[in-house]
Amino acid sequence: MAPDILRIALPLPLPRLFDYLPPGSVAAGPEDVGRRVRVPFGPRELVGVVAATGPAEGEAPALREALAWLDDEPLVRGELLATARWLARYLHAPLGEVLATALPAALRRGEPLPDTATWARALTGEGRAAAGSLRAGGRPRRLAEALRAGPVSEDLLDDLVDGWRAAARSLQERGLLARVPLPGPAGPASALPGPVPTAEQSEALDALRAAEGFAPVLLEGITGSGKTEVYLQAIEERCLARGRQALVLVPEIGLTPQMLGRFRSRLGVPVHALHSGLNDGERARAWAAAWRGEARVVVGTRSAVFAPLPAAGLIVVDEEHDASYKQQDGIRYHARDVALVRGKALDVPVLLGSATPSLETLHQARTGRYAHLRLRSRAGDAKPPRVRVLDVRKRPLQAGLSEELLAAIRAALDAGGQVLVFRNRRGYAPVLLCHDCGWSAACPRCSTPARGIAMTVHAGGRRLQCHHCGARRPVPMACPDCASLALQPQGVGTERIEELLAARFADVPVLRIDSASTRRRDGLARELAKLGDGPGILVGTQMLAKGHDLPGLILVCVVGIDEGLFSADFRASEKLAQLLVQVSGRAGRSSRPGEVLLQTHHPGHPLLEVLVGGGYRAFADAELGQREAAGFPPYARMALVRAEAREAGGTDAFLQAAAAAFTAARESLPPAQARSLLVAGPMPAPMPRRAGMHRAQLLLSSPGRPALHAVLQAVVPGLHALPEARRVRWSLDVDPIDLY
Ligand code: ADP
Ligand code: ZN
Ligand code: ZN
Repeated sequence: MAPDILRIALPLPLPRLFDYLPPGSVAAGPEDVGRRVRVPFGPRELVGVVAATGPAEGEAPALREALAWLDDEPLVRGELLATARWLARYLHAPLGEVLATALPAALRRGEPLPDTATWARALTGEGRAAAGSLRAGGRPRRLAEALRAGPVSEDLLDDLVDGWRAAARSLQERGLLARVPLPGPAGPASALPGPVPTAEQSEALDALRAAEGFAPVLLEGITGSGKTEVYLQAIEERCLARGRQALVLVPEIGLTPQMLGRFRSRLGVPVHALHSGLNDGERARAWAAAWRGEARVVVGTRSAVFAPLPAAGLIVVDEEHDASYKQQDGIRYHARDVALVRGKALDVPVLLGSATPSLETLHQARTGRYAHLRLRSRAGDAKPPRVRVLDVRKRPLQAGLSEELLAAIRAALDAGGQVLVFRNRRGYAPVLLCHDCGWSAACPRCSTPARGIAMTVHAGGRRLQCHHCGARRPVPMACPDCASLALQPQGVGTERIEELLAARFADVPVLRIDSASTRRRDGLARELAKLGDGPGILVGTQMLAKGHDLPGLILVCVVGIDEGLFSADFRASEKLAQLLVQVSGRAGRSSRPGEVLLQTHHPGHPLLEVLVGGGYRAFADAELGQREAAGFPPYARMALVRAEAREAGGTDAFLQAAAAAFTAARESLPPAQARSLLVAGPMPAPMPRRAGMHRAQLLLSSPGRPALHAVLQAVVPGLHALPEARRVRWSLDVDPIDLY
């Protein structure tokens, strides 16, 4: 009998597994499923994961032999492999690409699962005796001195003694120095006691205690109501007290340092971070610690949802409405949805927390599929802020700010408070306009059918930048059309607001926060620290809307929201309402009362009236009603096929073939399902040209998931094989969160 072959998931955009003989033709079996293996692929070598083993089918062609096993035992085990299979089916994506997305880069490349210890260097007994006789001032001597008090980690030595590795080698050869492992990330020795839970928190904790096994739970609580405190106590009870693991997802890297600090000091155990701000080695180490069950608490961003959890106890998704949980390229998964699938497979509760739950989640809670817990008041003595709408029609504006707003800022500063000015537009000005002929600077690589895409003025007016494709160029000296020098920045971005506020309130620090300054690890925390405790002003975009605790903040000013009130995207209202509520929630988080000023030219707009009058709840009710009437999610399921090509019309043939295939597949559905499944397009993308590529799309929509997935299942594998597919770049987005 022929030996079993390996069916391997390779990171290739092809919806199939690849067959190989086991390395060295040594027999393989089901116990090898989940092990990584290196294989030859054409002239290249790839790293894949064994998805199945079995006898070769039929007249097997001469199979190539895999080169080498990379793991001694399965790396992707049981539940994680099952989740990857589910995700591949749900997204109609190749399992190999899903697994490549789930693994940290170092493991994807085939590196061994790292050991979890942090390595340090220490002086041996002899080394301690000999340290004083090393040449003064030399590197070996400086290294020995750095180690006098005890072992020091290699990372820290990089900072302390430059060129220490060569010195360490020579000391090690003489038996004076040793390489020693340190225990995992240092945790504080003991846990700080938490506050006594409020009545509402107790109710939520009781409900969680009652949950046996899998339970999806929405924890809806206004900002500052103590949701994080509920997570902490639930983790203590469900995980730490029972030797189980907790996974906590947070939306932004910028939020993890604060969250980590709070978790470490409260829980008194090491807390492992897993996010894109870490280097490859650190990420692989944290993943390995989770894999071995050593990591008790893992806090991370989107991709941390794939952390292995051999002893899972609880999964928390904080700010579950946040769009950053959805991956927007490659394997387009939604971390919240993956968290729910894992929770079910692991049989543990999944706690979704938010002050502004997504309409999807609210809908599930209302129809009774998720438990719904609420925290209606702020914890401690903090009070929710007062919200006032400022009508600025016919008022003079400076850098987009009215006199009334500026006076309120002055008053807040004089009272010793801090102020946040929110404008969701980076840069100096959104448009550069020629005052003489009307020319405006447009991106050469992006456009809509009606008009160009304006380039944003940056760097105080010296640079132009396209926010869609990243193109940059210097601001021209003169108008390229009429040679006039009267080029004027139009409109207001955060840079321009910062410029005005810095001139007007020169006595206090004015700090602009944007995505560039906070991309680095600890970036946001470091920036915010510059403000100190005294009066000062923060200017920024949505970065500032998210979860950061700013106890000195007593006034939030929201400006320039009017364009968002009239967007064509069906999710625009939901996003704007969430943003307004989240940004308002920054104010008054301590005992000082907070105020929110909403500056607008449309004070009577229904969204503002409903939101200010009835809060997020009233907004969500109204919006869900409209979504239901229009047949939009969560009352429908969507999938979007996007395609782009270099030439205009280059996507037509592919999308038409795809549309025909979907329409044909629809015919084999039961008649009622077939009638309600819509295939819209091909149509141009909302931005038909981006970064020089022409873009079009096909939208599928159906009231229920089964019909949609039946046609996707029937059609998508064949799309890869279409000859037209070779001339385009295409992708499938299941449950798209924006239609761009
Ligand atoms: P959220 O996550 O809902 O924004 P937090 O858990 O961060 O809220 O709590 C907001 C503030 O209230 C924090 O400073 C927290 O320490 C405090 N807090 C939370 N729960 C309590 C409680 N039961 N008693 C007193 N203070 C509390
Ligand atoms: Zn001109
Ligand atoms: Zn562009």
